[in-house]
Amino acid sequence: MEHQSAVTYGNHFANGYLERDWTGVGISPRFDFIIIHESAHEWFGNSITAADVSDMWIHEGWATYLESLYVEYMWGHDDALKYLNGYKSKVRNTQPIVTQRGVNRTPPQDQYFKGALFLNTLRSVVNDDARWWALLHDFYQHFKYQNIMTEDVVEYFNQKTGMSLTPIFDEYLRHPALPVLELKFDEAGGAVSYRWKADEPAFAMPVRVGTKDHWEMVRPTAEWKTMKTPLKKDEFEVAADLYYVNVSKM
Ligand SMILES: [Zn+2]
Repeated sequence: MEHQSAVTYGNHFANGYLERDWTGVGISPRFDFIIIHESAHEWFGNSITAADVSDMWIHEGWATYLESLYVEYMWGHDDALKYLNGYKSKVRNTQPIVTQRGVNRTPPQDQYFKGALFLNTLRSVVNDDARWWALLHDFYQHFKYQNIMTEDVVEYFNQKTGMSLTPIFDEYLRHPALPVLELKFDEAGGAVSYRWKADEPAFAMPVRVGTKDHWEMVRPTAEWKTMKTPLKKDEFEVAADLYYVNVSKM
């Protein structure tokens, strides 16, 4: 946990969580992830601080995401994705991550794991890693030593990317449910129709579909669109390790 210019730590200098592989995907036993998490709070929590406890994902989502960046730096992107996606088992999707302002109540646990998975999703939306690293660096430099709210984060990313990311931030942070990519197959016609089922009407996140060796970017909206595909219903995949979404195949 972070405090004014300090963190507390309680993992007995053990790997995993007290020697346990707490997400069961084989990555956390390689390192003391709590040291990484608490160190990350020096940047996200102690330097950049949420102005209200309602927006504490700015500490916890980011610190949890930074664990995965440590994994990526040490062992590569595939292991980082495995590590992050291992956190899906801890996400509940029953309450929004950002809670009511001005109420002294800690937001739900989803602020950690869903917060981190959301940031990984945002990286896929930016879809340019050089740009992503620059954004993270500049975001920190811009807001260091300040108290900020989610709106400041959203405005910064909108401005720096030139994208309209507000519906994406809102979908993940202000609604409990995940967006669902609905897929309707016409195997005889060699086509698939797709649309988002989301709580934000303007949610139009681009997403990669097809197969792992040959992803294709589509831009679903709330309205059905159709694309040609030689893939059958059971072959057609969604890059759900890169975008935290649910998929419904019909
Ligand atoms: Zn933390």
